[in-house]
Parts: sequence; structure tokens; C-alpha cells
Amino acid sequence: MSDPSLILLPWGLGVLDLALWVATAWAKRRASRVPVGISGMEAARLALRSQGLREVPVRLGRANRFILWDGIELTPDVYAGDSAASVVTAAHEVAHAVQVRGAGERRLTYPYAAGRLVFPLCVLAVLAAALTGQGVSTALVISLVSTPLVLFVVLVEVDADRKALGLLDEVGLLRDPERRKAAVLLIQARAARLILWALAPAVLSLWLAQAGVR
Ligand SMILES: [Zn+2]
Repeated sequence: MSDPSLILLPWGLGVLDLALWVATAWAKRRASRVPVGISGMEAARLALRSQGLREVPVRLGRANRFILWDGIELTPDVYAGDSAASVVTAAHEVAHAVQVRGAGERRLTYPYAAGRLVFPLCVLAVLAAALTGQGVSTALVISLVSTPLVLFVVLVEVDADRKALGLLDEVGLLRDPERRKAAVLLIQARAARLILWALAPAVLSLWLAQAGVR
């Protein structure tokens, strides 16, 4: 890689990601200090009931996730926490259950699983190619082909956050303006970082291609 300006783009993306990471951490900290009065587990159950999904179980787990056929798992701090941050996270997982019901399991889960797998792979491929100056064209192909899948995952996640806000509104947990603001800030910061992640591999690839790196 002869052109030193090529180095600036990965650095720029890195700095932007760091800034968004700080913004997300700040928003999460802020939201975790706004009490809502009920726990993440109770909020999840309320939201599930409001959607006619009473049969989906909510239990303690090692991660916050919705597992197809198996229900919702929440980490202890989200399960028992009664902050805006906890209920937003819990409602996000309920939103995944709503998405699956709306889109049909297969249509949603197969590209979702592929997209999650492909994302770290294409970032690694582009970075390795950029650092070693070798195999960039392969990395370009990998990252361009994978971009729609990664974008799909990001859109599903952003949609789940948007739906989570709607669910919390519906069950009346965000009537207080302070609570709502904390929840919205958290969701916006997360969305900005996710969108950056979705676009970064494609931006890097196109940049390298334009610079004529092979
Ligand atoms: Zn999610």
C-alpha cells in the first residue's frame, strides 16, 4: 500500500466507532439511573402479554437474547433491574419475538444467522488485506457480497429497538418524559453505531478499490 492517505480511512472509521461507543456507554449509564418502577422481567412479560405472546417464557440467562422455540433470556441485571436501560433491553428481546411472528421464522432467522457470522469475517478479511497488502480483491468481494447480509442484521436490530420503544409506550412505561428521553437517547446511540458497522466494510472495500489496491 503506497498511498499513505489510505491509512486515514480505517483510522477515521475507528475514531468514529470509538466516539459512538462512548456515546452509547454514556446513554446507557444515563438510562440505568432513571427508575421505571418495574423490573426488566416484568416489563418483558407485560409487553409479551400486550402482543398476545403470553406463551413465550422469560428467564435468567448469560446473555440478553431471544432464542427461537425457547423464549427470552435476560442477564441478572436486566432481569431484576428496574431502570429505563433494563426495560429497553428486555423490550428489545420481546420485539425479536414479535418480528419472528410477523415475518415467519425461516425468512427472518436464516439470513440473520448468516449475517451475524459473515460480519466479523468480512471485517477481518478487509483489515488483514489492508494491513498485509495481499488478497485485497478477495476481501473486496467478500465484504461487498456480505454487506447486504450485514445490513439485514443491522436493520433487524434497529427495527427491534424501534419496536421496543413502541411496546414500552403501549404498556405505559414511558409516559414520564424523563424516562422516554433516556430510552430514546439509548436507542439512537445504538442505532448510529450499528449503521456504522453495517457500512464500514463496504466503505473500506470501495476505498481500497478506488485507490487501485489489488
Ligand atoms: Zn437484538
